[in-house]
Amino acid sequence: MSTFDFSAYIADIPDYPEPGVLFKDITPLFADAVAMRATIATIAEHFQGQGVTKVIGPEARGFMVGVPVALEVGAGFVPARKPGKLPRETISVSYDLEYGTDTLQIHADALTAEDRVLIIDDLVATGGTLAATGELVQTTGAHLIGYGCILELGFLHPRDALAKVGEHELFSLVKVD
Ligand code: IMP
Repeated sequence: MSTFDFSAYIADIPDYPEPGVLFKDITPLFADAVAMRATIATIAEHFQGQGVTKVIGPEARGFMVGVPVALEVGAGFVPARKPGKLPRETISVSYDLEYGTDTLQIHADALTAEDRVLIIDDLVATGGTLAATGELVQTTGAHLIGYGCILELGFLHPRDALAKVGEHELFSLVKVD
């Protein structure tokens, strides 16, 4: 495990996007070449040797982290997008938010039962987004290896939400309890 101080590059933004919310801004981590390199290398190193064939990232920050991790582990990349963004036939999953629901889609032919899939996002909060993406992977018959992210908001208990999808590892660079 890297000894790099990732948390020094994550900014706390109070009352964003609404009063009472403390938003975690990971853009400083990507603005610094050394910090970005360490972020991608550490996540990729953790999942090396597990035969990952596809990385899935939910839009949009999951693209920023997922694509370079995919390159590093020698896998392809599959974007999970909001409805109406993908041009061909899709499969969808809907999940509950604090207020309302949201939907993620991937192309119907993006994964096969032979794929070994890693799901990557910038941050896990309630776990709703990663769990929904995990469900989407499982409907394809592909093998879900686990989840990786930069920051885990442990006080929102995302691991409880992920456990409902099955027993899969969550690897996070920084955990806030
Ligand atoms: P969850 O579904 O509650 O786990 O929320 C995680 C999703 O919301 C991820 O796709 C994040 O990009 C986004 N998100 C939630 N809170 C934050 C935050 O404080 N900073 C950056 N992204 C966030």
